[in-house]
Amino acid sequence: MKLLFLGPPGAGKGTLSDLAVEKLGLPHISTGDLFRAAIKNETPLGLKVKSIMASGALVPDEVTIEMVKERLAQPDAKKGWILDGFPRTIPQAEALEKIAAVDRVVNFEVADAIVIGRLSTRRVCRACGKIYNVKSSPPKKEGVCDACGGEVYTRDDDKEESIKTRLDTYRKQTAPLIDWYGKKGVLVTIDGVGDPNEVYGRFAKLM
Ligand code: ADP
Ligand code: ZN
Repeated sequence: MKLLFLGPPGAGKGTLSDLAVEKLGLPHISTGDLFRAAIKNETPLGLKVKSIMASGALVPDEVTIEMVKERLAQPDAKKGWILDGFPRTIPQAEALEKIAAVDRVVNFEVADAIVIGRLSTRRVCRACGKIYNVKSSPPKKEGVCDACGGEVYTRDDDKEESIKTRLDTYRKQTAPLIDWYGKKGVLVTIDGVGDPNEVYGRFAKLM
């Protein structure tokens, strides 16, 4: 199965992906995670995208599309995937169409006020990418990942100035994809508000 997760930053796409990966056995391909890994490893790609990402703007389409093409060509991507954070623009969706046919696009709906609250309290493991929230799901030991012992930190783009930019960017560049996929008949919309297991239940019912 080839699934896309669509929705504003902080909609819970990453958290839901973690749950879905366990249950569906599909690889989780997150462009944000791929960029963060490149930054951490100081690759040429990482150096190129670091400041763009921190500001909350989008990485240029050519760069992003090339990276996704390479990732989808890996052997583990043959059986299907959950693509999280891609496409984020119409040209990216057009490029994806040429690579693979998507079975379903899951659109997570969450109001802005909730998104802002979630992002400003979100923390992430620098080593394995596990997502925490200081209010609703903190790690057992402050600053330390339960899963791998890595450092749990605040992403640069989860700081206030960048959150606003990301929401604006989402509205202008990514939200038009809801209609685009709607017209293709593959879109399902899910209420993304609630605790992750509850949201997962809504998702599972539609699969
Ligand atoms: P979130 O969904 O919380 O905004 P992501 O981890 O998906 O976070 O993305 C973080 C950042 O990575 C984006 O703000 C953007 O700079 C970059 N990025 C991720 N995916 C894409 C994409 N498909 N196109 C362009 N930039 C992207
Ligand atoms: Zn970890």
